[in-house]
Amino acid sequence: MKNILVTGGAGYIGSHACKALKAAGYTPVTYDNLITGWQDAVKFGPFEQGDLLDRARLDEVFAKYQPAAVMHFAALSQVGESMKDPGAYWRNNVVGSLNLIEAAVDAGCLQFVFSSTCATYGDQDGVTLDETCVQQPINAYGASKRAIEDMLENFGQSHGLRSVIFRYFNVAGGDPEGEIGEFHQPETHLIPLMLDAIDGKRPALTIFGTDYDTPDGTCIRDYVHVCDLVDAHVKGVEWLQGGKDSTVFNLGTGDGFSVREVVAYSAEVTNKVVPIVEGERRPGDATKLVSGSSRAIRELGWTPKRSSLKLMITDAWRWHQSGHYEK
Ligand code: UDP
Repeated sequence: MKNILVTGGAGYIGSHACKALKAAGYTPVTYDNLITGWQDAVKFGPFEQGDLLDRARLDEVFAKYQPAAVMHFAALSQVGESMKDPGAYWRNNVVGSLNLIEAAVDAGCLQFVFSSTCATYGDQDGVTLDETCVQQPINAYGASKRAIEDMLENFGQSHGLRSVIFRYFNVAGGDPEGEIGEFHQPETHLIPLMLDAIDGKRPALTIFGTDYDTPDGTCIRDYVHVCDLVDAHVKGVEWLQGGKDSTVFNLGTGDGFSVREVVAYSAEVTNKVVPIVEGERRPGDATKLVSGSSRAIRELGWTPKRSSLKLMITDAWRWHQSGHYEK
């Protein structure tokens, strides 16, 4: 079985990717520093603890497993935090990815699947966000991911590294079998915070801004189920294994939901009241991020199966009531 090095394999999306890789016949090797990840979530292949900033440790792991490809999830990923501490984003995400890319190239591993973000597009009112769209991030998180995309292009030109870049919209839901799920500490994402408010773990959900230029005044996002998202990543590995060129795909459904709409769906799915408080805008938030592209469906053969908002909230709610990890 081919090894795939999964950085961030102990995190929310990375752990779901490991499960999907195993199901597709690969051995996912998790490389994670466990700062935001959970060793309990590493269930589908070997675990190697390490930091992206530790080049010697990366070299050791490449030599030990000789991976066919890298799937790179490990990153700081919070828009709000990135505006408070941009240095952490440039160091961990950009310098860390540079180490990883150089280690991969030096080890002769020239296939790279990268977790990027629609935050690289920034706030482009009225523009259809497809893969050809100009990237003008409005927060340090998006800027760090755009820089890594540029790096991959340069290493492709000079060293023959081939990459599939996925620009995610908002990832939600969890493993339908309940083996793994979304669990961050501290939590910052809309759906898990809302579920906390619903079952009393928090007093209320604060809506960040009600004066945006949208029909109900709250931000609009495009939510995609984590299982659909990681299925695309397995197809990304197959794309590279099949010898195809570097490329980039948006991963979203093309449907936008406002924060208030997500609140309404959550109330319906859980059959409970969502306590809300209306608050200030969160710095760095774009008004509307909705994918304007179905290129992954057409060209990668991606078939999203669980990405209705109701199903995502249903899967998240099931995990929320039963699942968590311990340090
Ligand atoms: N949001 C909110 N209250 C919260 C967390 C998030 O109103 O406690 C909003 C946030 O402003 C954004 C949307 O929900 O418009 C999704 O935010 P999240 O942090 O989940 O993902 P992001 O879009 O930042 O990747």
